[in-house]
Amino acid sequence: MFDFEPRLIDLANEAELSLRDQFARIDALSYDRQKGVLSAFAEEQVSTACFAPSSGYGTDDLGRDTLDRVWARVFEAQSAFVRHNLVSGTHTITVALFGLLRPGDVMLSVSGTPYDTLHGVIGLSGKPGTGSLADFGVQYEEIALKEDGEIDLAAVKTRLLKGDVKMVYLQKSPGYSTRRPLGNEIVRALRALLDETGSRAILTVDNCYAEFCEEHEPPYYGADICMGSLIKNAGGGMAECGGYIAGKEEYVDLCAQRLTCPGIGTELGATLGMTKSIFKGLFYAPHTTAQALKAACFAAALFEKIGMRVIPGAGDPRLDIVQQISLNDPELVEAFCGGLQAASPVDSRATPVPSPMPGYEDQVIMAAGAFTQGASIELSADAPMRAPYTVYLQGGLTYESAKLGILNAAHAVLRSKGSRG
Ligand SMILES: *Cc1c(COP(=O)(O)O)cnc(C)c1O
Repeated sequence: MFDFEPRLIDLANEAELSLRDQFARIDALSYDRQKGVLSAFAEEQVSTACFAPSSGYGTDDLGRDTLDRVWARVFEAQSAFVRHNLVSGTHTITVALFGLLRPGDVMLSVSGTPYDTLHGVIGLSGKPGTGSLADFGVQYEEIALKEDGEIDLAAVKTRLLKGDVKMVYLQKSPGYSTRRPLGNEIVRALRALLDETGSRAILTVDNCYAEFCEEHEPPYYGADICMGSLIKNAGGGMAECGGYIAGKEEYVDLCAQRLTCPGIGTELGATLGMTKSIFKGLFYAPHTTAQALKAACFAAALFEKIGMRVIPGAGDPRLDIVQQISLNDPELVEAFCGGLQAASPVDSRATPVPSPMPGYEDQVIMAAGAFTQGASIELSADAPMRAPYTVYLQGGLTYESAKLGILNAAHAVLRSKGSRG
């Protein structure tokens, strides 16, 4: 295994040489963000007592309450909560949407149509009567991104001036679209636009895949609230499951009333021994995210050299951990995913095949050999089977293992191309 052809080794060495500045920037970022995390642990006095499991109602759970405060500090937010029983990113975002929106309110998505799994939540797809926002009379509007993939700020402004927008919703990472990620500069621009137009809309950010990729998190740049999953960046590869919501106190509190029930909020909820892995994950998150960022850069540089179109480009700024690689050929997508899977620490014998997925129009192929099921902070790749046959690669608990996985994927792609001339 890992007996790569000399040509591939040469390309990998060239790729790494070309990334020296990028890697230095990523190391510096991770160091800075680690300072923020360690300071928050010290300021909130994280202690062994915080790791004790609670059961039943989970009243007065020191670890849970401390974790919430640590999280708020790291995110530079007034308030936050983190829970293992937020079952996924979609669930976490759903708690925030239902916590904040009321019948008759308008939710305005400014980054085009949100992530696939949210369509049913908003009521864009599926039958009425499933309990979507639409069922409860929440109105949804969206503003498409411009041709160049940027937010159409002029159109957003026009809509805000018409009034009656309760929530401005931004998704940073591209999901299964071929746009670039949107960073916190956009959050800043949207904040300025809200202030300028006098709009009181709640600036809400889907922060999935973007945590620890920039100097600060969305609340610092003026977001009212942001959400994410613990089996992506913020869980550092250590959290077993969960999600978080961070932002202005009044909004986080409304979400907390929805998380449990009105009147209880964050005061109850047994942690069952999950708290330590979430603390540990947050401790690791700056470093683990840096590993994933380096892996994404390496994949971009290597596949650029192999002649594929990649987004972002190897030298582009990194605003999330996702790397798009357009292979232009369904067989190469299968080869890529097969190569990646075979180099995984878990389930390396599995063969990824395209299959139908609930909520997706095209068949989807997924490669993941993760310790934590579905964790995409671990090296993983997925692709909807449609032109331009773009693979979405993300994660890597360690740069070394991710590099091996990416090389094995490249090896399989080159062999598949070679065998067909
Ligand atoms: C992953 C992701 C989600 C949803 O998270 P799940 O855990 O898959 O439900 C939402 N938005 C974006 C941008 C994502 O990348």
